[in-house]
Amino acid sequence: LRLPQFFLSGTVVLMFMPSHLKRCSQPVAGNAAVGVLALQGDVSEHISAFESAIQNLGLTIPVIPIRKAEQISDLIALAIPGGESTTIMRLIDQNGMRNIIQNFEGGIFATCAGMVVAARDLIDETRFTPLDLLDITVNRNAFGRQRESFEADLHMAGFDTPFHAIFIRAPIITRAGPDVTILAEIPQGIVAAKKGKKLILSFHPEISHDLRMHEYFLTDVLGL
Ligand code: GLN
Repeated sequence: LRLPQFFLSGTVVLMFMPSHLKRCSQPVAGNAAVGVLALQGDVSEHISAFESAIQNLGLTIPVIPIRKAEQISDLIALAIPGGESTTIMRLIDQNGMRNIIQNFEGGIFATCAGMVVAARDLIDETRFTPLDLLDITVNRNAFGRQRESFEADLHMAGFDTPFHAIFIRAPIITRAGPDVTILAEIPQGIVAAKKGKKLILSFHPEISHDLRMHEYFLTDVLGL
């Protein structure tokens, strides 16, 4: 049997390979990396969680802290961690990152303070203007003082079992535009949403010892 030449080419072999084999330590094109915005907040926890998730999936992608605007445009994805949104927003502007993040075409993984930064509109917050990365309105400190931190088992669309989520002075989405997909809700509002390559969470998946949210971002949201 003589197979046509194209049949043996790398692309065709990959096309017919089962997806779990394709994932086997497949390097991602160029020197692309996942970046974690390292201006303030729980940066190192996100870096470790992404490194473990990437390893679990058999991918080979570096994870790097991002401190300079010029590091952003080549990334596969940028994580905006939890922390203090007023501080993160101020440092984004001081470092000339606002337009670059707004025009960034890779994935965005925004958690907690990151959700506030990514919002279009904020409730009762006029000291800073968020980045408007997707059409959501966010209440920054939705749970007030009396209930600053709590944990909840979330039913997350696409997950077989609940995700144990840790909320710390958590924001909440009070309105989502028609092009935003809601992934999880609690009685107070929406706590997980997605639009295209952007995944936005109220809680802190990087500290719950469950890598499914980082893995979901890499596979289902980014399609890696
Ligand atoms: N509500 C806080 C803020 O607006 C975020 C809290 C957090 O990231 N854990 O900055």
